[in-house]
Amino acid sequence: MQSYSSHIPQQRTLMGPGPSDVHPRVLNAMARSTVGHLDPDFIALMDQTKALLQYAFKTDNALTMPVSAPGSAGMEAAFVNLVEPGDTVIVCINGVFGTRMRENVVRSGANAVTVEDDWGKQTDLNKLEDALKANPTAKVVAFVHAETSTGVRNDAEKIAALARQYGCLTIMDAVTSLGGIDVAVDEWQIDATYSGSQKCLSCVPGISPVSFSDKAVEVIKSRKTPVQSWFLDMNLIVGYWGQGGKRAYHHTAPVNSIYALHESLIMLHEEGLENAWRRHARVHDKLVAGLEDMGLEMAVDKAYRLPQLNVVKIPEGVDDGHTRQRLLNDFNLEIGAGLGEFAGKRWRIGLMGAACTDKNVDYCLAALKSVLN
Ligand SMILES: *Cc1c(COP(=O)(O)O)cnc(C)c1O
Repeated sequence: MQSYSSHIPQQRTLMGPGPSDVHPRVLNAMARSTVGHLDPDFIALMDQTKALLQYAFKTDNALTMPVSAPGSAGMEAAFVNLVEPGDTVIVCINGVFGTRMRENVVRSGANAVTVEDDWGKQTDLNKLEDALKANPTAKVVAFVHAETSTGVRNDAEKIAALARQYGCLTIMDAVTSLGGIDVAVDEWQIDATYSGSQKCLSCVPGISPVSFSDKAVEVIKSRKTPVQSWFLDMNLIVGYWGQGGKRAYHHTAPVNSIYALHESLIMLHEEGLENAWRRHARVHDKLVAGLEDMGLEMAVDKAYRLPQLNVVKIPEGVDDGHTRQRLLNDFNLEIGAGLGEFAGKRWRIGLMGAACTDKNVDYCLAALKSVLN
């Protein structure tokens, strides 16, 4: 008979597009004893987790909570709740995740109008305004704040202001931005946003923090058709995660993952949001200086580069797969491959959350130097 033994994973350094290194404090929190998902002990933790998420998103939105599934489910939650069949949604696309947003619109039975820009460039505000003028009945503008496939930061504040000027709601993907750069949900008046636990929050994968404005909640409450997803229907989820003492069973929350999320948010709160952004910016500068010293070239204009996701051009004649495999095998170091049209042409070096340290930059530069020689 085949015998099985416990799995002891390799000790990697995670400098890809996520998951990022999970801090031991978060792993320890996760290993604490499980309680029931309606236990008063857990309910108190839910309330704290919501308050900490409001801090991270810089919002007072009452409907701010973690969806019990990865970032992709947060994306789907935003679309299936706000979009009804027949609606028109303008989607800004300049990378993989914008493309996925479009797919969500289409599968919601709505009409997707796309504003497309080259991968590696920002969403062009003039093109967006043209689309808004050409589609006066558009209901929502959707965009990715930090496009993880290209390393580009889109101008969330300006996109949201333009959308509002034309009477549209906004859906913002903040999966990679939250905790790494400024995400100001209330100041920018974003109506629906979602993130992921495993990027700059450095928590275990599988949780998607979301936040809906009061205006978005009104829109969801007054839908003509039921939300096509039972599991992601916010009208039902608020009975479990919503305000007030009475909480009813909707699904079983991933209790231990919420312990982990709570701990990672406490760590963000202890450091302070601004300090976390400053750390990402400073460590990013150090990485870029080191890469350029080695003769490597950054792929994104400095003006809108993401500090937490560094896209580097793979030099002529260097084998992508072989290089990443040696980094993994010889150095236990994971960096990201190029996605989509950047496959084989770009590396994506993540500096997310707990992995965003001087030590990791030194280690990554030394490992790359050794492999490329
Ligand atoms: C990672 C990522 C997602 C998807 O998150 P998962 O947790 O992998 O489902 C969505 N959007 C962006 C911008 C991402 O980087």
